[in-house]
Amino acid sequence: MTVHLVGAGPGDPGLLTVRAAELIARADVILYDRLIPEGALDGAKPGAELVYVGKEGGGPQMPQEEINRLLVEHGRAGREVVRLKGGDPFVFGRGGEEALVCSEAGIPFSVVPGITAGVAAPAYAGVPVTHRELASGVAFVTGHENPEKPETALDWPALAAFPGTLVFYMGVRALPRIAARLMAGGRPGDEPVAVVEQGTLPGQRALVATLGDVAERAAAEGIRAPAITLVGAVAALREPLAWLERRPLHGRTVAVTRARPQASALAARLRELGATVVEAPAIRVEPVAAQLPELGTFDLVCVTSPNGAHELWSRLEAAGLDARALAGARLAAIGPGTARALREHGLRADVVPARAVAEGLVDALAGVPVRRALIVRGREGRDVLPEALRARGAEVEVLVLYATVAEPIADPAPALAADYVTFTSASTVRFFLDGAGGTPSGRIVSIGPATTAALRDAGLEPHVEADPHTPDGLVAALLADGNRA
Ligand code: SAH
Repeated sequence: MTVHLVGAGPGDPGLLTVRAAELIARADVILYDRLIPEGALDGAKPGAELVYVGKEGGGPQMPQEEINRLLVEHGRAGREVVRLKGGDPFVFGRGGEEALVCSEAGIPFSVVPGITAGVAAPAYAGVPVTHRELASGVAFVTGHENPEKPETALDWPALAAFPGTLVFYMGVRALPRIAARLMAGGRPGDEPVAVVEQGTLPGQRALVATLGDVAERAAAEGIRAPAITLVGAVAALREPLAWLERRPLHGRTVAVTRARPQASALAARLRELGATVVEAPAIRVEPVAAQLPELGTFDLVCVTSPNGAHELWSRLEAAGLDARALAGARLAAIGPGTARALREHGLRADVVPARAVAEGLVDALAGVPVRRALIVRGREGRDVLPEALRARGAEVEVLVLYATVAEPIADPAPALAADYVTFTSASTVRFFLDGAGGTPSGRIVSIGPATTAALRDAGLEPHVEADPHTPDGLVAALLADGNRA
C-alpha cells in the first residue's frame, strides 16, 4: 500500500513517463486532475476506481482538504493509490502538500516526476529555457490566477533583476500586470516574450512578442489558459526553431476508418507527422466458425490479410497444432503486412508480391507449381485469386475465418469534416459511408485499386490512391498530396 504522487506530463500522451504508465496500470484507485493527457487512464486495470478531483467545467476545485482526506483514507485502506497530476507533481501542483499529508499520516508514498509545462510548452514551441549565450538560469514563477487576490507572494523587483529566463505559470489575464511590473523593475520593453497556449497539445498556439506589446497582442489573438509565458532573450529563438509547425501534416486533420486494433499504428505515424487524427473505426473483425481442413493435403496456402494470418494461427492453436501443420505447403502472403503478421507466429511467407493486391499475388504465383491450394480469407474476399488458380488447373479450397462487420460510428461529424479521410479497404468504404450517413468534405485517400473501386461504386472519386498499397504507401501518398496543396 503506497500513495504515488505521479506527474502525467504537459498533455501530449507520448510525454507520460514509463513509470507513470506502469503505476496507472497497477493502481486500485486513481485520483486525477483536469490537465492530464487524453487516454492517460486507458491503461488502468479493470475495476480500478477512477476519481476526478479537478475543476468541474471551470467550476470550483474539490477542496484540497477533501483531496487530502481521500489520499489518507485510500492509503490507510491498504490500496495502491495513484494521485495523477498534470506536468510535474512538485511544480505548482500542490504535490508537496499532499506528500506532507501522507508523511504525517504515516502512509508510505512515492513521487514520480513528470515533464513540467514550463519546460515542455516552450520546447514544443521551439524555445530552449536556457542557452549557453542567452540565459544561464531559469526561474519558474506562479502568480495568482485571480486579479482580485492580493499578490504579496511575489517580489517583483527581484524577479525583474533575475539574470535569466522567467517562466510564468498562470492565466493570461495576468499578462498586463506581469509585463508592467517587470518593466517597472527595469526589464526593457523590447525584451522578447513567448506565450504558449495548450503546449504539446494538438491545439498548441504560440506567440512571440515583446514585454511592451505582449499583453495587447495576446488579447488580440485571444490566447487563453492553459498557457505558459516565458520572458527572456531565448524567446527569440522560436523563429528559427519552431519545429512543430514545420512538420508536413501540421494543422491538418486526418480521419482513420480502419478497425481499431489496426488503426493505432497508422494514427501514430500520422500524428508524428503533425496531423490531428480523428479515429472513426467503421469496421470490426469477427471470427467465423469453420472446420480446419486436412492441412497436409495442400501444396500452397495463401493468406490474404493480416487478420487471416492471426485467425489461421489461433485456429491452429485451438486444434492443438502449430507451425508444423503447414510444413508441407508453400506459404503465400498478399503483401508485406500479411507477411509480417505471419512472421509474428513464426511463419515465413515464401511468396510475397511486390503489389499487395490479389492480381499481384496471381502474378507472383505464376511460376510456382500448384496442385491443391488453400486460400485463407475473410467472408467478403474477392474471387480473383481462386479463379486464377482454378484456371491453372489447381484444386482450390477457400477457408473463411472471419467476417468484417460494421462498427457503429458514434459521432461521424469530425471524420466527415476532416481534411483527409483515409480508406484502407473496400469494407471501410462501405461501412463508413453507411454508418456516417454523409459524404466526406475533405480529400479522399484510398489505399489501392479495390478500395478505389468501392469508392467509385459509392459515387466518390478518390483524390489520392496509394502505391504501394500499404499503410506506409498510404502515408507517403497523403504526404505527396499535402505538399502539392
Ligand atoms: N504541475 C503542473 C503545473 C500546474 S499549474 C506542471 O508541472 O506543469 C497549472 C498551470 O500550468 C496552467 O495555468 C498553465 O500556466 C500551466 N500549464 C499546464 N499545462 C499546460 C500546457 N499544456 N500548456 C501551457 N501551459 C500549461
